Amino acid sequence: VRQRQQSLLHTPSVTRDGQAIALLANVELPGDCTAALRSGAAGIGLFRSEFLFMGRHGALPDEQEQYTAYRDALLAMEGLPVTIRTVDIGADKALDGHAVARHRQEHSAMGLRAIRWSLSSPEMFRTQLRALLRAAEHGPLSILFPMLAQLSEIRLVLQLLEQARQQLRDAQVSFGPVRVGAMIEVPAAALMIEQFLEHFDFVSIGTNDLTQYTLAVDRADESVAHLFDATHPAVLRLIAQVIAAGRSCGKPVCLCGEMAGDPQLTDLLLGLGLQSFSMHPAQLLAVKERVLAADTAALQDWAQSVLQSREPQSLLAQHQSPLPAAP
Ligand code: PEP
Ligand code: MG
Repeated sequence: VRQRQQSLLHTPSVTRDGQAIALLANVELPGDCTAALRSGAAGIGLFRSEFLFMGRHGALPDEQEQYTAYRDALLAMEGLPVTIRTVDIGADKALDGHAVARHRQEHSAMGLRAIRWSLSSPEMFRTQLRALLRAAEHGPLSILFPMLAQLSEIRLVLQLLEQARQQLRDAQVSFGPVRVGAMIEVPAAALMIEQFLEHFDFVSIGTNDLTQYTLAVDRADESVAHLFDATHPAVLRLIAQVIAAGRSCGKPVCLCGEMAGDPQLTDLLLGLGLQSFSMHPAQLLAVKERVLAADTAALQDWAQSVLQSREPQSLLAQHQSPLPAAP
């Protein structure tokens, strides 16, 4: 199987009915870009910048250190698009052991995590935004904001980005253009997707958190792991709603949760109209194999029936689309 998939490395990711599907990589540090390129990724769909901030037991990375890391990722990707997410500290991603022990409450899944943490410390946040804007001179960069749930947060984020630009202008430091996107990973954001799309160039669905918050199942708690299900009808409806809203206003929708890398779910997501998947590089060729075998027009009705079903799992289990014969 691996050999068969490896032979697809340079094959363009296009469905049988001619739809180009972007297959992108999730990375944690600039060094992971090599694996992303080796997997044939068309770019980075999610750079989890919190990994630069974690495990330091002291000072957070300053503007120069961050700039260097973001620039290196863009250079490593040789002109392919790179989406860097601002820090998503908290919940499953502890800043360091001590801080979490001290601030357990503040950093809990429903506490001061991700964009909430960034907005609670505007100077730290502007530092990250300046580093990103400067790095954008080195390649096509998009900035992604995690865990937005309120319009007031959107306004603040965009204001702080403008302030960061102004600080660079005042200091006569050059910077590049960026596209801005919102993670859709809180049910409130999915339900208000039209308003989110008005403010952003694109959105990216974080199904790990969207599942956690929709089902009230802690993603890090093994005792409820059997209840964590991204194909729960409620989660699927939210995903479908976001994809449809993006398509109807012509703005790109990516999906960067674990679900994007599960080849068993590729047909479903294609049938719902998804055209951009971001995943761990190790999953990319397996997903590409499904994309090449798919006829999205034929999958649409089936995907709608899964969406309407009370038991999507059984429809998914029955669904076996043929894979191309081994070369
Ligand atoms: C998600 O929530 O699906 C996601 C991609 O972000 P993370 O797993 O880093 O929270
Ligand atoms: Mg998330």
